[in-house]
Amino acid sequence: MDFMDIDPANLEIVVYPDPILKQTAKPVQAFDKTLQAVAVRMIELMYDADGIGLAAPQVGLPWRLFVTRPPEDDPNAQTQGAGCVYVNPTMQITTRDMDVHEEGCLSLPGIRVDIRRPIEVTLQAMEVDGQPVSLSRDDFMARVWQHEIDHLNGVLIIDKMNPMDRIARRKDIKELERDAQR
Ligand SMILES: [Zn+2]
Repeated sequence: MDFMDIDPANLEIVVYPDPILKQTAKPVQAFDKTLQAVAVRMIELMYDADGIGLAAPQVGLPWRLFVTRPPEDDPNAQTQGAGCVYVNPTMQITTRDMDVHEEGCLSLPGIRVDIRRPIEVTLQAMEVDGQPVSLSRDDFMARVWQHEIDHLNGVLIIDKMNPMDRIARRKDIKELERDAQR
């Protein structure tokens, strides 16, 4: 998609099996008004859909960008509509400890699966104005970051299902594929 074609106010959440969800997103080049407007719209869509995080491919943009709600211990967490924006993020896993937790995805309505992930990561990214940030978490937000970075690499939770979930969710996934053809 061309920069000039984007109308941030009209972005909507795209659902599986939209092919954009399988693409590897490209680094953001310009920290401009379009980027800011896209981030604002993504935060709005995330809250409207009652989500915790949202990645740019989920609104049809193959950009390395995601938003999350503020962590609960963040002073901004109490601000209505506040969100964190991470541009061109990279992540290091800083522990060998893993845990399993159920995850959902705004692009996979009705599907929840158990995903095993490292419990602690460090995230490096730029804020929407280009300021670099480096953050470490060992709580649920570490899992959210990993889920969103997976999106930037074209990876969905249904790509990471254990064999039991793969069988149990087969019908739900097929239904989403059928809905897309209607
Ligand atoms: Zn997701």
